[in-house]
Amino acid sequence: MNTYTRLPLTIERGQGCLVYDAEGREYLDCVAGIAVNILGHAHPDIVEAITRQARQLIHTSNLFYTEPQTQLAQRLVEHSFADKVFFCNSGAEANEAAIKLARRYATNSFGPDRIEILTMLNSFHGRTLASLTATGQPALQNGFGPMVPGFRYVPFNDFNTLEATMTPQTAAIMLEPIQAEGGVVVPDIDYLKKVRKLCDEHQILLIFDEVQTGMGRTGTLFAYEQFGIQPDIMTLAKGLGGGVPIGACLATKTIAAAFEPGTHASTFGGNPLACAAALKVFDLLLDGNKLEQGRIVGDYLAKGLASLAKQFSCIQEARGMGLLQGLELSIDGKPLVMDCLEQRVLINCTMGNVLRFVPPFIISHTQIDLLLSVLSSVFSKRK
Ligand SMILES: *Cc1c(COP(=O)(O)O)cnc(C)c1O
Repeated sequence: MNTYTRLPLTIERGQGCLVYDAEGREYLDCVAGIAVNILGHAHPDIVEAITRQARQLIHTSNLFYTEPQTQLAQRLVEHSFADKVFFCNSGAEANEAAIKLARRYATNSFGPDRIEILTMLNSFHGRTLASLTATGQPALQNGFGPMVPGFRYVPFNDFNTLEATMTPQTAAIMLEPIQAEGGVVVPDIDYLKKVRKLCDEHQILLIFDEVQTGMGRTGTLFAYEQFGIQPDIMTLAKGLGGGVPIGACLATKTIAAAFEPGTHASTFGGNPLACAAALKVFDLLLDGNKLEQGRIVGDYLAKGLASLAKQFSCIQEARGMGLLQGLELSIDGKPLVMDCLEQRVLINCTMGNVLRFVPPFIISHTQIDLLLSVLSSVFSKRK
């Protein structure tokens, strides 16, 4: 169906940070499947893990245990605040699980009125009805009403308004620690700390949507680590499977206990094929030092973008964390995406005027130099 504006490029194969069209033309991929291919394309270890698992067992449903799912859950809880994991297939589904879990926990604990969820303007939580309702962008909700009741919106990084909007019905506050689709917006460090404190004082659940920021994107395994606080519920998807669809909703055991057998489910969620891929991603990030590598090139990219921002007046700000970087422009960003494509560099534009860079963690300094020089030539033409 006609749901996407696609670029005039058919990608045939990929290798590392490069993709190729049918004519064999090579492109540097700084979109990486929208922050999904965190270890690049066709990583041999991931390919091997998927291949081996496919030969052994692809799917069983959640009526049975499987080793890859158990091990992946173990890995996730060992390296996060959480004690329990629910597996699904996408970011939107992970957020659906988070919303359902928060409501069930809050109504069980505090009574049937405790259903309200506060989310942020310009947030992005997915396209299913509840995750779309959570998404604080009226333009994306247009024509799909009525939205799910019980959601209200506040500006991001504005603690006073959040505090004033909260009511005794508030069950949870849901936010992305860094708004990614919303234009790579990094909040003040004390904002998230204050939100955490507010939640503690009023027994409100704090849900972090780390679908894009999680799995090392910002330089730590999860973005919450950068802010010195922990959420109660966290969602993951994009980078988790290194390109294979998988999502996860993580929570502390007290909160997770609100889900009992029969309360939530997914046929495909956490199937052995997807979990084998995600397990290999974990190994490469932590034991294979790719998290560290991503942090180093992330700093290098941030410095390069900051220097472009000084050079070109149409760049209003360079901002981001780790390998989630953006350039806010005073001009329309989409033509620049086309210009970069012509020079065989894939980048993305969000919110109309923010160029977003989310390359794989294995991008080299030389490849970043290429990106920066292409950007520089593209900006020179618009000065
Ligand atoms: C991409 C994204 C989603 C939606 O994920 P899907 O897999 O497309 O459903 C949700 N939240 C955030 C922060 C995202 O970046």
